[in-house]
Amino acid sequence: MQDCIFCRIVAGQIPAKKVFESDEVLAFDDVSPVAPVHVLVVPKRHIETLNDASDSDAELLGKLLLCAKTIASEKNLSQHGYRAVLNTMSGAGQAVFHVHMHVLGGRELRWPPG
Ligand code: AMP
Repeated sequence: MQDCIFCRIVAGQIPAKKVFESDEVLAFDDVSPVAPVHVLVVPKRHIETLNDASDSDAELLGKLLLCAKTIASEKNLSQHGYRAVLNTMSGAGQAVFHVHMHVLGGRELRWPPG
């Protein structure tokens, strides 16, 4: 999608600091980090929100989670802890309408989130 900022990052039209890349998944640093580690994991294919995912996306969604696990390990967060968050719709804080998982860590994370 031409007007989607994450599609443009995937296409290399907007710079991003890549952390992980495969055929189907891209991970890059969040431009406005809210924690010492704040990485976004996105499917390369445009899916607007989790509401738009279907059974045929199950493997792809699993790959997002496993990518989050790999990033946490590479950032030495596995033992202390980290959070993988997928905001869905504006009421939950989704601002970019291309499915993305936030991987947050490197500081104490409180619960419940705001
Ligand atoms: P959400 O509020 O869950 O939709 O999260 C969107 C995230 O995308 C925010 O944390 C933004 O800081 C981040 N973001 C927006 N534009 C960019 C960009 N060009 N590069 C990296 N992160 C971005």
